[in-house]
Amino acid sequence: MFVPRSLKVRRNANDDDRSCAAKKVKPEAEDPQLGAGGDGPADDASGTKEAALAAHHGAQPCSLPGPASQVPEGGLAGPGQQAQDSDLLEEPVKSFSKTQRQAEPGEPVCVVCGRYGEYICNETDEDVCSLECKAKHLLQVRGAEALLAPGGPQKAGSEPAAPHPASYVYTEHAFISNLREDQIENLRQQLGIVVQGPGVPRPIIDFEHCGFPEALNLNLKTSGYEIPTPIQMQMVPLGLLGRDVLASADTGSGKTAAFLLPVIMRALFQSKMPSALILTPTRELAIQIEHQAKELMSGLPHMRTALLVGGLPAPPQLHRLRQRVQVIIATPGRLLDIIKQSAVELGGIKIVVVDEDKKLFKPPVLVFVDCKLGADLLSEAVQKITGLKSTSVHSEKSQPERKNILKGLLEGDYEVVVSTGVLGRGLDLVSVKLVVNFDMPPSMDEYVHQVGRVGRLGQNGTAITFINNNSKRLFWDIAKRVKPTGSLLPPQLLNSPYLHDQRRKEQQKDKQTQNDLVTGANLMDIIRKHDKSNSQK
Ligand code: AMP
Repeated sequence: MFVPRSLKVRRNANDDDRSCAAKKVKPEAEDPQLGAGGDGPADDASGTKEAALAAHHGAQPCSLPGPASQVPEGGLAGPGQQAQDSDLLEEPVKSFSKTQRQAEPGEPVCVVCGRYGEYICNETDEDVCSLECKAKHLLQVRGAEALLAPGGPQKAGSEPAAPHPASYVYTEHAFISNLREDQIENLRQQLGIVVQGPGVPRPIIDFEHCGFPEALNLNLKTSGYEIPTPIQMQMVPLGLLGRDVLASADTGSGKTAAFLLPVIMRALFQSKMPSALILTPTRELAIQIEHQAKELMSGLPHMRTALLVGGLPAPPQLHRLRQRVQVIIATPGRLLDIIKQSAVELGGIKIVVVDEDKKLFKPPVLVFVDCKLGADLLSEAVQKITGLKSTSVHSEKSQPERKNILKGLLEGDYEVVVSTGVLGRGLDLVSVKLVVNFDMPPSMDEYVHQVGRVGRLGQNGTAITFINNNSKRLFWDIAKRVKPTGSLLPPQLLNSPYLHDQRRKEQQKDKQTQNDLVTGANLMDIIRKHDKSNSQK
């Protein structure tokens, strides 16, 4: 059987058999179709699926209850057990997918239909929404197990399926090996693939070149991945060879599948659990990656993921982690919390938390903008996109509010504070190591104050300043001021016609000033000029 996610979390994992056995009493007694072993004949489509599932359960203590019409509300426990388990039977198990609600963001989703994955299938540990989807899911898994064997599904009456291969070694496909070196170079050039490092394997051109099990090839097709994207062409063979890779490609170019495919193959052929830890900066990204991983793993045997992210209750995540999962997708903060709070065996993955209080304190970033609305909007955007804890400060915030934010900034409560000029002067923000002038202030004086928030008390600091044509009248002043510090100045600034114009004007002015100075050499000239202009009057 399976149990509602919430109940499973509350129960001790060792109680499974006892509570499942108790749950099956009533449905079996009332279900003439399933009989004692749960594998009786079925006479309609859904019955067939459920019968197939029940047959699979065989003599196990937990069998599938009958169709929805025969499952009494909350009636999954025998009378003796009912009171004892009353707290576990708050809601009846949903029989059909259509009676399940849609998943909220961050909630588990049914691996079959994508609705709220309220239950965990105890055979595969996948999330399912209802009895109907559990049945479909188990049918898919059985089918995929047959497909997983090289040579595809077994035909009726043929030899038994080859056992799941014990290992996988990526070998270059003959089609790729037969290409000439200049053809490979040309391909990389055309696709914008640039590689560095020794012994980089040739890219693949088709997913079929990887020798994936048929079930995975099928998942790729189902997800609409007909041909690999350039990052996948080069990354997948590298990943399959177990090489360390640092890869960079545009957003939306298929990076996720580029690393997930090697991760899945490793998980599939490695007994150590977990076999992969995927760290992402934000919860949203983690959720998205888990979703894609589940899509690609669908139907592959014994593939489980755990999502460890903030903003959702930790106990279910910890529970899931303890179920021996292959792939963990986590944000660093929640992962560390979970590791600190519980002795979780992370198998082959070594995570050493060293003096984390010191290591985790990231110096906050102070960002300056030129208006209140800009401060609010930018701090919201930073929080949303990067997941960094940020806030804004400007003149519309009350004095106590500003004081609190400043305190939070110094104590590490905020990773980013976006401010108008109000924090630009006077304050000793010793913990700030980076100032970003998102908007260049209107004067050099103000600029010097803003960048002066870092590097206080002889400490080192960094300032990054964004400039555009709005501050063109300051270009030459900026260059003069910043260049002697050895800072990098962009060629767009150094080659700007405004800068050259300002420098020329300044040089002319200097020359003029020079001419106006009275020296021994020009004294007689000045007197003569003066006399001449007087006589003309
Ligand atoms: P990503 O850059 O990993 O966020 O992927 C962007 C989108 O492209 C996602 O919706 C993927 O599902 C999709 N995608 C990734 N690889 C492929 C592929 N080879 N063919 C078609 N779509 C893909």
